[in-house]
Amino acid sequence: MDAGHGGPDGGKTGVNGKLEKELNLIIAEKVKKLLEEEGIAVIMTREEDGWLAETRIGDLKERVRIMNESKADLAVSIHQNSYHEESVFGAQVFYYTTSGEGKAAAEILQNELLEIDPENKKREKANNTYYILKKTEVPTVIVECGFLSNHKEAEKLSDEAYQGKIAEAVVKGIKSFFLK
Ligand SMILES: [Zn+2]
Repeated sequence: MDAGHGGPDGGKTGVNGKLEKELNLIIAEKVKKLLEEEGIAVIMTREEDGWLAETRIGDLKERVRIMNESKADLAVSIHQNSYHEESVFGAQVFYYTTSGEGKAAAEILQNELLEIDPENKKREKANNTYYILKKTEVPTVIVECGFLSNHKEAEKLSDEAYQGKIAEAVVKGIKSFFLK
């Protein structure tokens, strides 16, 4: 599990003032706890608010090293999205364009996330520019839990019950992917 950003890199800032890096860690920790209750081993890239190196790129490299050395069956990086149009909302899962396993995991996770928000019409999406997707040698997905630029979603993402729902959806998705 990777909680995106941290330390000097706050990630996106919500319209309600919430920082992406903090929400990422809260949700990632919830996912970790639920997975461990299911007997699934979890390696976290960070459990504190900080960088793993002196620089942002150094931090990203270190995260990728941890993911690759873990030989994980799946690496999941938790993020929050933002857009210049307030109306845009909805969780979305990204995978590396040429990764069949990444795509399969993203599709399963996306479907689970749609279950908790019937208004969300987003689909999993291929990407070949995100550093973590490019550099990992294990199947990797980036889960953008929602848009901090949308007032309603920023409030939901800041709510502990909703954070729990997101975590449960991610865990259900990971479990189904492992059973495939
Ligand atoms: Zn992010």
